[in-house]
Amino acid sequence: MKIVLLGAPGAGKGTLAAMITEKYHIPHISTGDIFRDNIRELTPLGIIAKSYIDKGELCPDDVTIDLVRDALVKPEYESGFILDGFPRTLLQAKALDKMLKSHGLKLALALNIFASDDSIILRISGRRVCPHCGASYHIIYIKPKIENICDVCGTTLIHRDDDNPETIKKRLDTYHKKSEPLVDYYKKQGLLVEIESSHGVSESWNKLQIVLDGLE
Ligand code: AMP
Repeated sequence: MKIVLLGAPGAGKGTLAAMITEKYHIPHISTGDIFRDNIRELTPLGIIAKSYIDKGELCPDDVTIDLVRDALVKPEYESGFILDGFPRTLLQAKALDKMLKSHGLKLALALNIFASDDSIILRISGRRVCPHCGASYHIIYIKPKIENICDVCGTTLIHRDDDNPETIKKRLDTYHKKSEPLVDYYKKQGLLVEIESSHGVSESWNKLQIVLDGLE
C-alpha cells in the first residue's frame, strides 16, 4: 500500500506513521529524518538542508525530489511505503505522480492529519524525538516509559533545534502557503482521507485503523 501523509509540522504525522508501520508493516520514509541524518553526518546534502531547516523554510524542490526518487527505487519499498513529509509542494506532488506512473504504480491514499495552529504550537514545544530511530514523544501527552529515553531503541531523546517557538511559527506559515494546497490536489484525485488529531493519538489511531482496514 502506497500512502502519503499530509499535514502541518507537529500535526502528528510521525507518531501515526510509526503506528502504521508497526501494525501494517508498511515501511516509513520521512524526508525530515533523511535530511536530519545528512546534517548529523555532515554530508553536502546535510549542509544545504541545514541552512533551510534552521530558518523554518522548505529545502529546495529539486534536491528533495532527487532524494525521494533515490529512496523509492530501494527494494524494501517495492510493495508499499508511507511517505511522511513529502510531498510538501505542488511541484513535489506532480513529480511523485510522475515517478510512480513511470513504474506503473499509484497511490492508495493521501492522509491529511490536521489540527489547529494553537494545538500544534503546544504540541511541538513539548515534543522530544529520538535522534536514532525517529520515534516521537511529548513531555506531557506521550511520555516514554523511562524519562527522556526512547522506548524503541534506548537512545537519549532530544528537543529538535527547529522546534523552537520562532521557527515553529515560520514553519506553520510555510505550511499554509506551500503545502496546504496539496489537500485539494489529492481531493480532486479522490485519494484524500482527513483525520483530525486535536483529540489525542488514540482517537486518531482508531479512526485511521478503520480507514486502513477498509483498504486491505
Ligand atoms: P519534518 O521533520 O517533516 O518536520 O521536516 C523538517 C524540515 O525538513 C522541514 O521544516 C523542511 O525544512 C525540511 N523538509 C522535510 N521534508 C521536506 C520536503 N518534502 N520539502 C522540502 N523541505 C522538506
